[in-house]
Parts: sequence; structure tokens; C-alpha cells
Amino acid sequence: MEKLKVLFASSEAVPFAKTGGLADVAGSLPIALEELGVDVRVIMPKYASVKVKASEATIGKNVKVYFVENDDYFNRKELYGDKFGDYHDNLDRFVFFCREALERCKSENFAPDIINCNDWQTAPIPVYLNTNYKFDPFFSNTKTLFTIHNMAYQGLFPKDEYPKLGLDWVLFSIDYFEFYDKVNLMKAGLVYSDAISTVSPTYAKEILTKEFGCGMEGVLKTRVDVLSGILNGLDYDQWNPETDKKIFKNYSAETSGDKCINKEALQKELGLKIDRDIPMIGLISRLADQKGLDLIAKIIDDLLNLKIQFVLLGTGDNKYHVLFGKMAKAHPKNISVNLKFDATLAQKIYAGSDLFLIPSRYEPCGLGQMISFKYGTIPVVRQTGGLKDSVTEFDAKTMQGNGFTFEEYKPDRLFAAIKKGLSFYNNKETWSGLVKKVMNLDYSWNASAKEYVKLYNKILKKGE
Ligand code: ADP
Repeated sequence: MEKLKVLFASSEAVPFAKTGGLADVAGSLPIALEELGVDVRVIMPKYASVKVKASEATIGKNVKVYFVENDDYFNRKELYGDKFGDYHDNLDRFVFFCREALERCKSENFAPDIINCNDWQTAPIPVYLNTNYKFDPFFSNTKTLFTIHNMAYQGLFPKDEYPKLGLDWVLFSIDYFEFYDKVNLMKAGLVYSDAISTVSPTYAKEILTKEFGCGMEGVLKTRVDVLSGILNGLDYDQWNPETDKKIFKNYSAETSGDKCINKEALQKELGLKIDRDIPMIGLISRLADQKGLDLIAKIIDDLLNLKIQFVLLGTGDNKYHVLFGKMAKAHPKNISVNLKFDATLAQKIYAGSDLFLIPSRYEPCGLGQMISFKYGTIPVVRQTGGLKDSVTEFDAKTMQGNGFTFEEYKPDRLFAAIKKGLSFYNNKETWSGLVKKVMNLDYSWNASAKEYVKLYNKILKKGE
């Protein structure tokens, strides 16, 4: 049987460029698909962070990653914008990327069965396949899956930039690109793709509502028959405390007691009081409204009264830089605020922390809770999206559940969930049982990559 051919188009992928979870997915799902016998190739822009001279690289055993080169557009330090905001030429940049992605398929003589597009940066691809390339025999058997990693980022541009897409003005209508007199790339991608998926089953349902749909709920409702949710997985070759070279001491579920060596070393590195018995609470996140950071700001004083240490790593909106900067100054002994993107420090925090906070307003999937599990760090999460699909309330009597959860978006709810977590921390036997348990959970791509293959096949069957 011929191999299933998939082009995975993404604006970021580990290990080449990353701002968030999309990069983790794009750098690991294709490797898992390869294991399942799929001929999958990745395509992404060649940013300044891509330290590869050639126009392609390999990940996994033999997954080709094609780089789209254009120094003017992509040879920049940041991916989508800098401290002054989004780059003014983002539409030019990603229209270029999408067109090149299709042309590259041709020059590599790789006619994909499926192009798996990801987020707004790749949304023009299904549109082009149905317009400019509609009668191109090279793509006559190519179908598209559009995967939503975050509904809130849709690729909105002023109307007068529409001609940059090189499409007829007819498509600038409310049935396609137009959204309140602006160009909305995601909207057209949702309309033109053969199927739509998102990164957790719960988020797939949530985005059909006004609260989570960010204005796209109407369009999505018209496509509900082809909408599904598949939970992201983790690449345990990348995230594994047994082999992680960046942490201070490797450990496994059997030697999870060694976590405290990581805690002490991190306390030392960050200038916190060195004491293995103080519970350490970690938070690693883009600093954006989505992530529930205002709740943390409201409880921080009460939290510090509980004799804990709080370690934050994040970068994003300036208002949060100011807020957390002030907080760190007020409590230098028990808070460490690190306002930057630092993959190495992230690994050390996952390894050294006891609890990990994800109080998001909404969370399409969330990877922090899965990474935390693997590192024996117990997540405290709000029950939304993928967090709801992966974290369940711990019950000490039955040892069921794997974290601490709250539902209502309120500071006292978050505080209660943290307090509950801390109440078990002092019971050494229960805590170590919980730590070992979460370390043995399987959130690898094993199950989810198979779901993707099933979905690809379903799309192809339908198109026959
Ligand atoms: P999102 O994609 O919304 O940012 P996810 O939870 O899906 O959220 O993925 C976030 C990923 O980015 C995780 O791998 C997390 O560890 C990483 N991350 C977020 N902020 C930072 C940072 N400042 N430094 C290093 N890694 C970070």
C-alpha cells in the first residue's frame, strides 16, 4: 500500500523556532506520524533562529523539514512582532509563506494527500488550493485539514491589504474573508478546508459558543460535521526527567525523591532561600490575558502567607511585565520572576517545582500540565479546554485523580485549589504516591497520532 503523504505546514516548530505550544506540536506530531508509517514533511519559515545553512533539515528518523527562505521577511529575531507590536508586513510574510509552501511541494515533487494547516498563518493554503490551484493537476488529490491551536489569533488585517492575497475581490465577502470590514485569514481557512480540528475534544465543543468562539462560532456551526478535537501529546524524548540534560539531577518515578535536589539547585540559582521542605509553585507561560494571570496577582499576598516559593517564567504583554516586576521587588525572598523566554530554565522549573499553576481563562490544550506530570509536578488548573480533558481532581482516599482543579474564574477558587494541593504536600506518603502516579501517566503522542491518521483517512475517503 502506498504511504499516506502529509505536508505539515506550521509557522513554528521545535527545535527551530518557538513562541508556544504550536511549535511543540509541529516538532513532535510529525515524528509520531512517521513512526506510524506516514510520509510526513514539515514546512516552516526560515527565521533568524533557524541555525541551519541548507534549505531543509531532518527531525525524527527521516522527517524532512523544508524551510521557506526570504531574508526580508523571515530573517528576524522574533516570529510575529517585536516590542512595538505585530510586524506591519505580517500579511505579506505569511501569504508568501503559503504560496511558497505549495510551490515547494511541486519542486520537491511531493504531492500530499493531506496538507495539515495550523493556525491563521497557514489559512490561505486551503483557499489557494480551491482558487488559484483549483485546476492544477498536481494537487488534484490533495485535501486539507485546518487545525486550530488558538481561536483568539485569527490573522486580522485592514481591508486595503486584501489585494496582497492576489485573490478576486468577490472573496472579500462575509462568507469568506470579511470580518467587520477587515480581512480575516482564519475565517476563510475555516470555510475552505476539507476538515477542521482543534487540540482537545472539550475545546472543539467550546469554540461553538459565543464565549470561546471569538466571533467564529457562526462559521464553525456551519462546519460542525467536519469539526473534531484531538488532544495534543508530548514528545517524551524531549521532555523526560530521566534523560533531560538541562536539569540538575535526573530522576524517574522510582527515584522521584531526587526531585528535591533539583529544587535546591534551582533555589540557589534563583537566589531563593534553600530549603527542600518549602513547597515551590511554578508558572511558565506566555504573559497574555488568556492565561489567568490577573487571578495570581489578586492572591499573591495570601499565597505568600502560606510559606511557599513562587517561580515565574514568562514573557508577553508589557502590563504583566510591570505587574510581576513589582511583585518580585516586594517579595524578593520568596518570589523569583523571570521575564524572558528561556527553554533551559523552563526545564529546571518543571523539575524543581512541586505545584504548577495554569489558571487559564481558556486553554485549547495546554502542554504545561502534561510536562508537569512527566516531571512529577502536580498541576493546579482551571477546568477548561484541554485542561479539563487531562487533569482531574485528586482524591487522597482513593488515590484517583492527578491534580487540583477549579471551575469558576475567581481568585478565591484558585486560592482554594492551591491550598488543597498544599494540604497534601505535607503528608509525605500521599504526596510521593501522587508524584509517582502522575509520572507514570502516558500523555505521549501514542494515542493521539493514531487519531490524526484516522482523521486524515476519513477526509480522504469522503473526498473520493
Ligand atoms: P501556548 O501555546 O498558549 O503558549 P501551551 O501550554 O500550549 O501554551 O504551550 C506553551 C509551551 O511554551 C510550553 O512548552 C511551555 O513550557 C513553553 N513556554 C511558555 N513560555 C515560556 C518561556 N517564557 N520560556 C520557555 N518556555 C516557555
